[in-house]
Formats: sequence, C-alpha cells, structure tokens
Amino acid sequence: MNSERDEEFEEIVCRNLRESLRGISLRGVKTLLQCPLKIYWMISEEYAPSDEDLLGMARGASHHSIFEIQPLIEVKVEYDGVAGKIDFIHDAPVEVFSTARSVKDPSKFPLKVKQLGAYIYMLKKTGRYDKNWGRLLIFHYNLKKLRAWRIEFDDEELEKIWSDLKWHQKILENALKLKVPPHPDPYSQRECEFCPYRRRCWGEPGRRV
Ligand code: SF4
Repeated sequence: MNSERDEEFEEIVCRNLRESLRGISLRGVKTLLQCPLKIYWMISEEYAPSDEDLLGMARGASHHSIFEIQPLIEVKVEYDGVAGKIDFIHDAPVEVFSTARSVKDPSKFPLKVKQLGAYIYMLKKTGRYDKNWGRLLIFHYNLKKLRAWRIEFDDEELEKIWSDLKWHQKILENALKLKVPPHPDPYSQRECEFCPYRRRCWGEPGRRV
C-alpha cells in the first residue's frame, strides 16, 4: 500500500465548507439564536475564516450517527417566518448534541437550551404540543457517556427566547440590506471563544460594544 497526502482535495473540502456558510438562511432557529454580527460576516463574504476556524465550527456535526440504534426522525416545524428541525420527539421534543465538556450542568449549553425553548414555543404556537418542557440528549464523546436532561421553561422564558430570536432576524435582514454590520449579541463568552471572527471583532472577544 502507498499513501500520499492529498492537499488539493483538502482545499476543495474547505472551500466547499466556506461556500456553504454563505448559503445560511435567515429563517433557521439555530442561526437566529447566535450572535448576529457573526452570522452577518458569515453571509456577507466580507471576511473568510481560516481553515482551522472553519473546521472548528464543523466539529461534532456527525453525532447523529451515534443514535442509529434509535433512528432520529427529524420533525420540521415552522412559525412566523422561522423554520426548525427538531432532532426527534419522544413524548416531548429532544435536542441532541455531542461535546467534550462536562455534561453535569445543562445551563452550560445556552445555545442548546434556547434552541429547545424555541422549538417548544413553535410547537405550542402551531397547536402540536401543549407542555413547557423538552429534553437535551448529550453525548460525551471522550467519556462515551450519554446524559439526558429534562428542561422545563416558564411562559415568560419561552416568550423571551422567541422575541430575542425575532429581533436577531430583523436586525440581520436590515444589516444585510444596508451592508452595515449589526450589533454583536453573543449567547455566551464561549460563542466568542470559538467565533472565527474573534480576532476581527470590535474590541476583545465577547466585549459588547
Ligand atoms: S467574537 Fe463574539 S461578539 Fe464578536 S462576532 Fe464573534 S460571537 Fe459576535
């Protein structure tokens, strides 16, 4: 057997990944819960992230195959110009993800908690669910452990998640139309730590300006 590194192919894969960022929809739940400035730069092509940063964003995307024993049947939900894909529903919506971080405290995953809240809100508004709770199913890929968390929201929390999401959608639409970067609004310091634009961002990573 002979083996030879194929750098040309590596470049093609990274180029495709970079291209895919530009096709991000302003209707996606996960997109709209992230920092609008980051999403603006991803879509506007003003600045290309490095290959390393691109691959950092892509990590963990293949966790769905872990659950093939119980096939995930994604459930689509749409409400008020926003579309989402719930990983699956098992008497309540379930959001699945993988991590190498501690899974002892689900509040350490604010994007996933908000995503779950947004799905619950959309299901309720479309008359498909009448509860305020759902589950996070977390796979720790270093420890090879699963953790399932029941997460309950009150009505006010669900309203807040939804109004923040719609606000991001509005300011992003305006920013892209006017070609003016929007105000940053990261969901946590961690979003900034892994942001491909952190070196370019106004001020230090995570600093709200
Ligand atoms: S570094 Fe933080 S505030 Fe700046 S664009 Fe990225 S996520 Fe937004």
